[in-house]
Amino acid sequence: MENLDELRERFRRQAESVADRDSWEALRLDWLGRKKGVVRSLLSRIGEIAAEQRREFGQRVNELRREVESGLEEIGDRLTAREREASLVARRVDVTLPGRRPRQGSLHPVTRVIAEIETIFAELGFSVAEGPEVETDFHNFEALNMPPDHPARDTQDTFFVEGGQVLRTHTSPVQIRTMLARKPPIRIICPGRVYRHDNDLRHSPMFHQIEGLAVGEGITFGHLKGTLEAFLQRLFSPDTGVRLRPSFFPFTEPSAEVDITCPFCHGSGCATCSQSGWMEILGSGMVDPRVLRNCGIDPDRYSGFAFGLGIDRVAMIRYGIPNIRLLFDNDERLLRQVRR
Ligand SMILES: [Zn+2]
Repeated sequence: MENLDELRERFRRQAESVADRDSWEALRLDWLGRKKGVVRSLLSRIGEIAAEQRREFGQRVNELRREVESGLEEIGDRLTAREREASLVARRVDVTLPGRRPRQGSLHPVTRVIAEIETIFAELGFSVAEGPEVETDFHNFEALNMPPDHPARDTQDTFFVEGGQVLRTHTSPVQIRTMLARKPPIRIICPGRVYRHDNDLRHSPMFHQIEGLAVGEGITFGHLKGTLEAFLQRLFSPDTGVRLRPSFFPFTEPSAEVDITCPFCHGSGCATCSQSGWMEILGSGMVDPRVLRNCGIDPDRYSGFAFGLGIDRVAMIRYGIPNIRLLFDNDERLLRQVRR
């Protein structure tokens, strides 16, 4: 009987030193194991006990067994809780770390240049006009002083659509539509996609143009020059030189090609400007009286100027892009580069 009290003490001491699942399992086998467990071997020796003490002995061995069982259960629960916590710690997320930023989109260089040009002309009192990309022969050619035999209608250059329509070769038909729909004074710019059968490093079958038109009483060539100077010096830099050279377009008279001092060498001469110091940037002129008349505007009362430039070319100069096709390849690397 005294032995049983010692055993109980021994179990308590051993239980205190259990630190992990292995030592817990060893303790369980020591005490409750079916073959060599302490409790089992005590019960198997009940025959050696004097008959009058057997009942008490059996009760006390059962008490010991219950104590061992509940002790093991308690330690087991503690181990399980500790294991769960350790696994949570192992999978812990550090919420103080900086997050992963989603990649930011950016505007296409052509879109940016269009927005920039629109802003400049809005400040000069121009509004934006748009029109269809599939045009009638009348709006794209005839109203612009280009009768059916005119060389500018060369089949090499124009995409024809079934039914006699064309993909507009310039945004000039928007000017025609505006003049047919409204009376002067008119001050508009027309940005948009245009199409020509042309494909090399500097030309793409689809490209972007922006044209401007001002019609009113007393509009002179001086207004044209002043407007273009103000525009080009805002678009490039305030010290940009502007030069007008006589030229010919079917829809303007007189007409002028407009050069700016080379934005790369500022006029001193470089490979990009073929050492000339100048770069051709747009075409312009006074609206031909016949074009005004075609649109129902009296050329004896009204006059106007018009100009047009390639947006893609401005984007190429602005961002140093050597090949026009890079603008339309949808290569994300280009967009990431020009974002800066
Ligand atoms: Zn140059």
